[in-house]
Amino acid sequence: MIRGQCLCGAVKYSYHAPIVETIICHCLDCQKAQGSLFAFNSPIDQQQFVIEQGQSALKEFFYTENKARVFCQHCGSPLYSYRKDLPNVIRLRLGTVSEGNIPAPKQAFFVQHCPDFLSIQLCQE
Ligand SMILES: [Zn+2]
Ligand SMILES: [Zn+2]
Repeated sequence: MIRGQCLCGAVKYSYHAPIVETIICHCLDCQKAQGSLFAFNSPIDQQQFVIEQGQSALKEFFYTENKARVFCQHCGSPLYSYRKDLPNVIRLRLGTVSEGNIPAPKQAFFVQHCPDFLSIQLCQE
């Protein structure tokens, strides 16, 4: 069982399946959206994901027409994204997980935008 929340605690969620796949993405959209040098995400089964508290605190931002980025409107924590054309998958922002096992990432994307001072093994050639 995975549990997580936003920074202020208004939004709490649980995930009722194991997290299998984790991904690091250095693309410039992810950097801007997370306010960080990379995003650390997992594609998870939307059916097993439950907002336990704070549904009304969630806001969606569509930078592109197809993809919603969902965040807490009180504290701004990015929580997950979903694509309209992929109905059963959401991409959980793993920095919001507070309980449960997160496997190490096997893939990093857009490593050309990974700064040299970050020695993430996945980003080395
Ligand atoms: Zn919050
Ligand atoms: Zn990205």
